[in-house]
Amino acid sequence: MDYRPRRRNENKGRYSKPSFEDIKMNIPTQLVGKVIGRGGSKIKEIQTESGARVNVTKDTDGDQTIVKISGKKEDIKKAKDLIELITNEVEVLSINSEPIEQQKEEENSEDVVYINGWKTKKYENNIDWKAVFAESDMRNREEFDSMYIIVKNFYQEHPEVTALTDEEVEQFRLQNNNIVVKRVFSNENSAIKKPCMKFEHAFHQYPEILEEIKKVGFEKPSPIQSQSWPVLLSGEDMIGIAQTGTGKTLAFLLPALIHIEGQTIPRDQRKGPTVLIIAPTRELALQIEREVNKYHYKGITSLCIYGGVNRQLQISALKKGVDIVIATPGRMNDLEEAGHFNIKYITYVVLDEADRMLDMGFEPQIRKIMYSVNPNRQTVMTSATWPDSVRRLATSYMRDPIQIYVGSLDLAAVHSVTQVIEIMEDDVEVKLNALLDFVKGMTQKDKIIVFCGKKACADHVSSELALRYIYCTSIHGDRDQSDREQALQDIMSGDISILIATDVASRGLDIDDLTHVINFDFPKNIEEYVHRVGRTGRAGKTGKSISYFTKNDWHHAKELIPILEEANQFVPDEIYNMAERYEAMKAKRESQPNRGRGGRGGRRW
Ligand code: AMP
Repeated sequence: MDYRPRRRNENKGRYSKPSFEDIKMNIPTQLVGKVIGRGGSKIKEIQTESGARVNVTKDTDGDQTIVKISGKKEDIKKAKDLIELITNEVEVLSINSEPIEQQKEEENSEDVVYINGWKTKKYENNIDWKAVFAESDMRNREEFDSMYIIVKNFYQEHPEVTALTDEEVEQFRLQNNNIVVKRVFSNENSAIKKPCMKFEHAFHQYPEILEEIKKVGFEKPSPIQSQSWPVLLSGEDMIGIAQTGTGKTLAFLLPALIHIEGQTIPRDQRKGPTVLIIAPTRELALQIEREVNKYHYKGITSLCIYGGVNRQLQISALKKGVDIVIATPGRMNDLEEAGHFNIKYITYVVLDEADRMLDMGFEPQIRKIMYSVNPNRQTVMTSATWPDSVRRLATSYMRDPIQIYVGSLDLAAVHSVTQVIEIMEDDVEVKLNALLDFVKGMTQKDKIIVFCGKKACADHVSSELALRYIYCTSIHGDRDQSDREQALQDIMSGDISILIATDVASRGLDIDDLTHVINFDFPKNIEEYVHRVGRTGRAGKTGKSISYFTKNDWHHAKELIPILEEANQFVPDEIYNMAERYEAMKAKRESQPNRGRGGRGGRRW
């Protein structure tokens, strides 16, 4: 085998770099903290999302602070929009804010109230919780129960779905991004509806909805849709753990349209909207609105309300009457409190990207809304993650919700990849030797990506290769934007054929002609494994992945087995053994909850 590291092609000259610019923008000095976030978290998020570099300077101009943004023109625009979003949202919230002195007084007075075990000051973000509770109790008892009966169940299982065996259902879920579905707070799993595989399965009673889907030209339901539609059309509360891009909006939207039309009170007699969708940012609210506007059903109308723009226009649009309101939490409360928004008729509530809303500090606003709307409503929540804060929200405001988890496990994406698992010692030098052996066998055509768990490891591997005159390039979070772009161009152009990367830095990178993926460190979860492996073997080509698997990765063995088996790959005996031993260890730990848990120096192997 011929291995000679290919050198940078000098004749090609330098790569034409995209043009970089600098701009300045002013933000109110009192909001600098919001833009920077705790420990710089917000500014990091803005930089990651936009790709631009953001620097909050110490320079001020009156009550404004100057922020410098540099990068590509489009990235600068994204960063600027994100900053404006943050400052606008906060402005809305602060319209009615109490003076600081008054807030301090309240803190001292210890005027604390509890909502479902959640402790808050009487006035939190200017919400008078005692008044909210009093009003809510009154409504619960006197109004809502007698006002109307909410119709929630619109589902009739299609005979083809009824005919599916349990094994077929399980196989379908596994092959569709490994859908995991369960009731979060009870064990009534048997009553969970089977997924639908075709649009007709979900909407066979609603030909106009099918017609709308046909117009947009989608082929089949996305994984989250196939499981959500039967659940939501049956009137159940649902938590969708799914990322943007999975089709989650349509998952909650089409049942919402049917819900609106199916209520007993005719639409023109409702004095307010029926469906409320709450989203963390103006950007997301507008994105949802665009999606809503694609579907026309029985003349249903929608309105998007968010902070930072003229309230009056939104108020007059609300007055005209709409069926769906898509709102950011601040503006929603603002208009409701001012009496412009009748929420009595809302019977279907969606909290979109709940984790993000909580991260942005909207918990009081959300709780206020949820406390005020009809408690017999149907509630849907989506979230990319499932932290305790989101769980608490679900406990408080949902009724026996069904959680649908959709991983980014696209198993079909790895069918064209030969997946090899190499069991080895958990020692970076041992792994490095394995990598060097592989590199020695590389041919001119090969182009590989080597995944490391940590930046330090990526640096170590890169410098070890460089020391041996093996050309490689790397991307990880500590390299700045222009270095990352250069690395990407080097690997795309073929000037360099080895890219060392961490997961985070390589997210979103699309390099089509990779021949090999090497998992120098096994990924943190099985979704990431499938995602990494699926980077090769694209566009009709075949690829190969090699994963270095050590005793410290044993907790992944059980989940790895079905992935390999499903793709007809060889599973080393050691992987089966590890899976068994790990499960046995877990069972033992669970049976002895107070003994040995997390014991230092305990045997893990
Ligand atoms: P979302 O995850 O809701 O942001 O949706 C991402 C994109 O996927 C949107 O542009 C949708 O229009 C599109 N989409 C939704 N459902 C499907 C489907 N079943 N097939 C193909 N694309 C879809």
